[in-house]
Amino acid sequence: MKLCPRCGAVYDGHRWVPEPGEELKKAASRKGAEKRLCPGDVRLEKRQVEGVVTLKGAFLESHRREIINLVRRVAREARKRKVSARIFEVVDEDRQLTIETTDEHLAERMGKEVEKAFKGELVIKWQEKDTFARVTWRRD
Ligand SMILES: [Zn+2]
Repeated sequence: MKLCPRCGAVYDGHRWVPEPGEELKKAASRKGAEKRLCPGDVRLEKRQVEGVVTLKGAFLESHRREIINLVRRVAREARKRKVSARIFEVVDEDRQLTIETTDEHLAERMGKEVEKAFKGELVIKWQEKDTFARVTWRRD
């Protein structure tokens, strides 16, 4: 077994469990689990960005807080299922918001959820043999 010292994820011998329950945590400490960064923290460490989401337009200005909350919620949900899906950085600039993710599908999901909730125009471009997603959303 392995235990990630950064986020507490546990590798149970088959897969990384992002949010281990008490049982699994106890088992990990009982077996003296090896401390090892999980794939998500490895990607953060290596600055491995696989998705970039850019949000812009006048609507963003007036709904910034709600939109950021939605994006963070999508990231929390994704993380429960996939240990490597994380936000690398959120850059809050004057007229746009840029979110870098360690997982291309997380970037795609964020774009789709923002479009679902707030309408607007969404463009998703896949690059580098589909391992990198460039997601742009705009609503004026
Ligand atoms: Zn971790």
